[in-house]
Amino acid sequence: MAVISSNKPYRVGRSRTGLGLFATKPIKKGTRIIRYFGPLLDCRKKEDDAIENKYLFELNGRWTIDGSVRKNVARYINHSCRPNAESDVRPRERKVYIRAIKNIEPGEEINYDYGTDYFKAYLKPIGCKCDSCERKRKKQRAEAKADRAQLKARAEKKAKKKAGKGATPASKTKKLNGVHFHGVHIHSVPHGRVRTSA
Ligand SMILES: [Zn+2]
Repeated sequence: MAVISSNKPYRVGRSRTGLGLFATKPIKKGTRIIRYFGPLLDCRKKEDDAIENKYLFELNGRWTIDGSVRKNVARYINHSCRPNAESDVRPRERKVYIRAIKNIEPGEEINYDYGTDYFKAYLKPIGCKCDSCERKRKKQRAEAKADRAQLKARAEKKAKKKAGKGATPASKTKKLNGVHFHGVHIHSVPHGRVRTSA
């Protein structure tokens, strides 16, 4: 990590899952950011085919880049399901570049989509931790919590109603958290009369 010259628009830094690659300068959409490189493995060679690590980048049916080498700084780029970069694979040149697909601001983490095979093998079993998936999970948790709260409130109202008629008018139990139940607006009118309108 010591030899990343300052004219590069990125640096290695702490990310949610360990290390990641972060923009240090604005990177324009379409820019080639970095090359993903390493020894070429030929799957027709037994010893090459036996190599297994998380940094293998398949070029085609025969050639794979072994990106696990230390000098391959691109290996720090984490996966995202909604990335700001992509891999530009050039099988004929046997090269892979990481290219921006959005304008990237300084400080932003650079991500690309590792693809379905990687996702299934390494990320699905432990749960993807990219921003997009974290946001989704957060939202789901919040929704589940709201659902539980609503169920609880409903159960409590039911119990109250059972406990003593008149304590809670039936019309009022229909209004949940200020939301109009089934799209019907319920207006409470003084003197205890209830008027409904669609
Ligand atoms: Zn994800």
